[in-house]
Amino acid sequence: MSDPADSGEPASLTEQEARERAALLEVERYDVRVDLRDLLEGERWQASSTITFTCRTPGASSFVDVVGEVTAARLNDVELDLSTHGRGRLPLPDLAADNVLVVDSVQADTGSGNAILRSVDPQDGLVYVWSSFEPDGARRAWACFDQPDLKAVHGFQVSAPSAWTVLSNTSPDVVLDREDGGRLWNFEDTPRLSTYVVVVNAGPFHEQREEHGDHDLGLYCRQSLRTYLERDAEEIFRITAQGLAFFGEQFARPFPQRRYDHVFVPDFGGAMENWGCVTCSDSELYRSPPTYAERAWRALLILHEMAHQWFGDLVTMRWWDDVWLNEAFASFASAWASVGATEFTDAWAAFLAQEELPAYQLDAGPATHPIRGQVSDESHAFASFDAITYYKGQAVLRQLMALVGEETFVEALRHYFADHAWANATLDDLMGAVGAASGRDLTGWTTAWLDQAGTDTLSLIGGTLLASSPDGGEPRPHALRIGSYERTDDGLRQVALTDVETSGTTTRLDLPVADLHLVNDGDLTFASVRTDERSLEVLLSTAASLPDPVDRALAVCTAWDLLYRGELSTGDFLDCVLAVLATEPSPGVVQPFFELALDAAEQWSPAVLVPRRLARLADVAAARAQEPDHRTAALQTLAAAASSAEHFELLDAAAADDHDLAWRVQVRRASLGRYDAAAVADLLERDPDPDAQVRAWGVEAARPTEEAKAEAWERVWRERAVPAGLPQIGFARAFWRPAQHELLLPWAHRYLDELTDLSGGLLSVLSQVRIMRPRTCDEEWLARAEELTRSEELTPVVRTSLVATVDTLTRVLGARS
Ligand SMILES: [Zn+2]
Repeated sequence: MSDPADSGEPASLTEQEARERAALLEVERYDVRVDLRDLLEGERWQASSTITFTCRTPGASSFVDVVGEVTAARLNDVELDLSTHGRGRLPLPDLAADNVLVVDSVQADTGSGNAILRSVDPQDGLVYVWSSFEPDGARRAWACFDQPDLKAVHGFQVSAPSAWTVLSNTSPDVVLDREDGGRLWNFEDTPRLSTYVVVVNAGPFHEQREEHGDHDLGLYCRQSLRTYLERDAEEIFRITAQGLAFFGEQFARPFPQRRYDHVFVPDFGGAMENWGCVTCSDSELYRSPPTYAERAWRALLILHEMAHQWFGDLVTMRWWDDVWLNEAFASFASAWASVGATEFTDAWAAFLAQEELPAYQLDAGPATHPIRGQVSDESHAFASFDAITYYKGQAVLRQLMALVGEETFVEALRHYFADHAWANATLDDLMGAVGAASGRDLTGWTTAWLDQAGTDTLSLIGGTLLASSPDGGEPRPHALRIGSYERTDDGLRQVALTDVETSGTTTRLDLPVADLHLVNDGDLTFASVRTDERSLEVLLSTAASLPDPVDRALAVCTAWDLLYRGELSTGDFLDCVLAVLATEPSPGVVQPFFELALDAAEQWSPAVLVPRRLARLADVAAARAQEPDHRTAALQTLAAAASSAEHFELLDAAAADDHDLAWRVQVRRASLGRYDAAAVADLLERDPDPDAQVRAWGVEAARPTEEAKAEAWERVWRERAVPAGLPQIGFARAFWRPAQHELLLPWAHRYLDELTDLSGGLLSVLSQVRIMRPRTCDEEWLARAEELTRSEELTPVVRTSLVATVDTLTRVLGARS
């Protein structure tokens, strides 16, 4: 037994240590036996990890990572001294050239979501277990060399209760009954994988499988969500098959394994690209028929995790300093595949409205950082895991494709995957491949785009395009288009599209006479766009009549950028976005625009104007609710903004057969002080969703009373009773009603207290901290929060998140006054 007194925080592997260990060791394979049988009733995850590895300097020493209780360890048949195990490391003295290490361990922390989560379905009491290891969670499950560049074959044998299905990266080749109870699942060997992309999920899952082309696709979820999976399975299979075909073709390398599964699990923030076995939050199995935007979002999620199978799993970053590239590439590739292979062809417009916009916001404030940075140890791997890494990174990769051309970009990717398959690579390897394929020297481009923080501004003044960088230095080179439009009776008509490559600050252009010159037409580059006053007036007033959804999104996002930077009033922004919303045909941008309009009306407006502005928004939503393509998004907005008896009448009628909408309406009523206990009880009775209780708590949390807020706080922070993902987002929205400003101020302060006292896994902590951030505050809160960001009390990722919250709320207070 290891010393139980050693409960010190596990040490975080530094880049230096990882380099030294990778230089010393090569791992041949992991044979991991996992015993989950205790988890049916108890909390112990037991494992025995056999690691076969070589050492380049016999006689040298190293260490293996293992967090939890170590019950036995033998290196080359010699017992190791377990008292040396501490802070998640077991020293390995006197290594031979060829080594076999066997470590038996127990992890009792299976309830916090830190790499492993055991959860009990509230509806039927069934138990499910998931694992998720990025960046260094595998060491919590079994002993391993937990760093991305020590890749190895993994062979899993898992013992589980008889009624459970066990899912891992590969197919189970044998499943046997065990004499001492339960079943033993033996999985085929994986290819050489990093420790963070292997997985073991288990439980009495509902299963659906289908053959598509060369692949055998599987979908899994809790029994209580079966009807929702059955409803959407055909679409999820279709998107999966379309994605596998698209990437296989583009990368000239089909996904090499027949089996490809998605496992939808409870209380999981986001999704994880485990090789061949992607884990997703089961809040993506929408409890009401999903809107277009929700379906499009889920398609992106599927494609994002799929892109990682090549970029991340097949070719893996050497160290976490390239994690931004891993994420940016997968996000870029998901939009690219969505447009190229699925029905969701307005993905780039939706990307701009939904993801690129938050990246612009973050980039405009003190939380900005260069896209790439140093990562000194694994605890910092995700310190800048934010909209800049994902979405600005994505925009910059799209800019790179615009610069060299799609064909050249694809050719470069093919070389990159071929050259580094089953190994590790760095940004330089990728840029080298793009440089070679395009015949361009991209050194300057790479530094300009990746090592400089902030957003350039592109201003069209007369016939000159001026580029400026936020720090007054040299602006980045931009490859973009300028669309020239003239007004006609049917709106704006494009008369010219001019390709421009800038270098330096001033680019002279030869543009035709037109009513509007749209800088960054098609959104190919990442920049704030400014025009002279007359063009701005045309842009804001005629945004709705631009012919392409990407350009309408560009107009609205430019207006938001102006509001965010204090250059436009909230009222002017609302005029622009509501005019677009009145007629916008593209469902991929209607929903995010409704959300922007709602934020502007209730969070960014002075208190006295909020009711009138919400009523205006509600009227637009009520009108759009008549159109089938936009009905759900419009009704959801109406439920958030309903202001008149007519609004509620329309909602009540629509909510009769729509539980999700019914919950939203109850939240709105409760927030206005009209909590209806009987209606909530009735809805709870009728709604088959296993998470319906969380919806009922959301209604209670919206009430404008001290007790309601206190009770809700307990549920989120103490009891951890609100599952991550969409349930938490809905709950937070209900809790933080900006109109309840005075009542909520003490809770904004409580939020700061919570930040210094967090526990749990990366995804659940990030999810809680970001989703539960206050939506209102006062000057005193800002001062206190700012002080906290300068203290040593916060972990890096929490600090970064708070800096961004402070910046946004400072701007909100400015816009309100
Ligand atoms: Zn990802």
